[in-house]
Amino acid sequence: MRHLIATLIALLPLPAAAAPLLLVPDRVFDGEAMRAGWQVLVDGERIVAVGANLAAPADARRIALPGHTLLPGFIEGHSHLLLHPYDKTPWDDQVLKESQAYRVARAVTHAEAMLMAGFTTVRDLGTEGADNADVGLKRAINEGRIPGPRMIIATRALVAPGSYAPKNDAWAVPQGAEEADGPNLVSAVRRQIGAGADVVKLYGDYRWRPGEGSRPTYSQAEVAAAVAAAHDAGRQVAVHANTAEAMRRATLAGVDVIEHGSEGDAAVFALMAKNGTALCATLAAGDAIARYRGWNGAEPAPADVEQDRAAFRLALKAGVPICMGGDVGVYEHGTNAREMLLMAGAGMPNGAVLTAATAGNARHFGLKDRGRVAPGLLADLVAVPGDPLADLAAVTRVAFVMKGGAVVKAAP
Ligand SMILES: [Zn+2]
Repeated sequence: MRHLIATLIALLPLPAAAAPLLLVPDRVFDGEAMRAGWQVLVDGERIVAVGANLAAPADARRIALPGHTLLPGFIEGHSHLLLHPYDKTPWDDQVLKESQAYRVARAVTHAEAMLMAGFTTVRDLGTEGADNADVGLKRAINEGRIPGPRMIIATRALVAPGSYAPKNDAWAVPQGAEEADGPNLVSAVRRQIGAGADVVKLYGDYRWRPGEGSRPTYSQAEVAAAVAAAHDAGRQVAVHANTAEAMRRATLAGVDVIEHGSEGDAAVFALMAKNGTALCATLAAGDAIARYRGWNGAEPAPADVEQDRAAFRLALKAGVPICMGGDVGVYEHGTNAREMLLMAGAGMPNGAVLTAATAGNARHFGLKDRGRVAPGLLADLVAVPGDPLADLAAVTRVAFVMKGGAVVKAAP
């Protein structure tokens, strides 16, 4: 027994740092506002003090970050760590032809790339055919065996039978998510939670056949029953919905976050604002797919990209809570900040984008222990050169990353 305990202790990650750390950047974005001259004191895995001219303990180790802004670690709101860019390998081929071992091996590198880009938390919304591989990935990260962000996982996600993909007219092929509807949907929600889902992901609409537009897949009653089961278990619900009708059903059913929302109209965004339902617009996914189809980025943008931007502007105007999530996996992991730049490009002020990626996402996802630079919160921190309020592109040049008080990327 004694030997077993000693072995277990040896396997645990080392304490983040013996001495407290005093971080001295030029300024701190605390999740809501920029604070010139602030410093941050970290002890163990937590922030213990913030402000100007902190009285740090004598043994505190000073980390100077001259010319840099310190921010809360970014929170990616919508990713698929088990996917990689569709221009290299189409989604169908990833789901049908890649082994789970291969997909997990790639996901390990994706998780590291994401962390090094300053994303210390990720809400990963479905393994897309890789079973519950996210459960093991999350465990390995939590145990300190591989580098990666703190994961909020959805396991397989849920689709109405027949609605999803891949499609194959010759014989039945494995699907990118678990099929369930009616009373079976509630059972499936509960099974996924029991298997490790932190958040329940439903596809509230989809293209029933290739080439056609999206139409609702679940009834109002089905979504409501799934939400009740998830909320009973203390889990949030994220619903993929592009059509205004699926968005309306999801909002009325009390879901926490709607993903995409590209066909949302003023009425449904007003309803979301009234109910406090957040939108994860995933502008970067549409942008990436348009580029894969040959768009060189010049204006005017293709119609699909313009539609995404227009819906996002409508949501902003209606006062919908906005999360920052780009559907990374469609494009390269580690380039997560693309979504932040596209949100700003579509009309969101830089400060609001920074809040969405930090304090906002923490609030929308119910993560009370992170997302701001404040005493008592997890010491998940990043530093970027210059002032991202003035030049948002600084978020693509993350120079320093701390996760739980441990420096995982040091400034040069
Ligand atoms: Zn997605």
